[in-house]
Amino acid sequence: MRYALISDIHSNLEALRVVMKEIVKQDVEKVLFLGDIVGYGPDPNECTENLRGFADIIIAGNHDHAAVGMTDTTFFNPHAKRAIEWTDRVLNDDNRAFLKQLAFTSTIKKESIYLVHATPKDPEEWDYLMDVRDADINFRFFKEDVCFLGHSHIPAIMELSPEGDINRYYNSSEIKEGCRYIINVGSVGQPRDGDPDAAYAVYDMGSVEIKRVSYDILLTQKKMRDAGLPSPLIERLALGR
Ligand code: ZN
Repeated sequence: MRYALISDIHSNLEALRVVMKEIVKQDVEKVLFLGDIVGYGPDPNECTENLRGFADIIIAGNHDHAAVGMTDTTFFNPHAKRAIEWTDRVLNDDNRAFLKQLAFTSTIKKESIYLVHATPKDPEEWDYLMDVRDADINFRFFKEDVCFLGHSHIPAIMELSPEGDINRYYNSSEIKEGCRYIINVGSVGQPRDGDPDAAYAVYDMGSVEIKRVSYDILLTQKKMRDAGLPSPLIERLALGR
């Protein structure tokens, strides 16, 4: 089976469109989405509708839950909070109902794949899995061979060897027999690894690759300005930070 994995669209329709176009060319059988359809960006309804017609599995992110009042925004920074309040106002009833029913995790038993937005340890706490130490703890909280996640917007491939060592790879890795993996697929709509291009992953059971594709950042930024969204959120798109 060949999968495409996407995460953290954050209402960025321009980024989502180019990623969808690229994925169609990749000839994958299934598309899996790891949370945060909305928040930050200018097109929450359009992104929700496009994704619903495109992805085979969709799980919840913290911004999806926050936008429909299911997660409190106390720990959001002020700009993120303003964007969530704006999203809350513009989301239509149908998309709101869709975001409300999303699950925290999903598994594909046959291929031993586990999906979560934030961490396997506490999916509902929205903690960040950033380094090898975090990965070491989290490998104990799922039993599948491969866990895909998002949330930090920073792509990473963590490999647990049968001896218990953890190796970190950045853009691609072969999937080795006997090893287990935690793979962060990066962000479609708000990358934070210094590369502003949209990120997604292709996984074919034997290897995983993080792919990057450029999109019309200026158009997304213009829409954000027109919507009155906070300027730090607009500027960071061009920086990939
Ligand atoms: Zn996110």
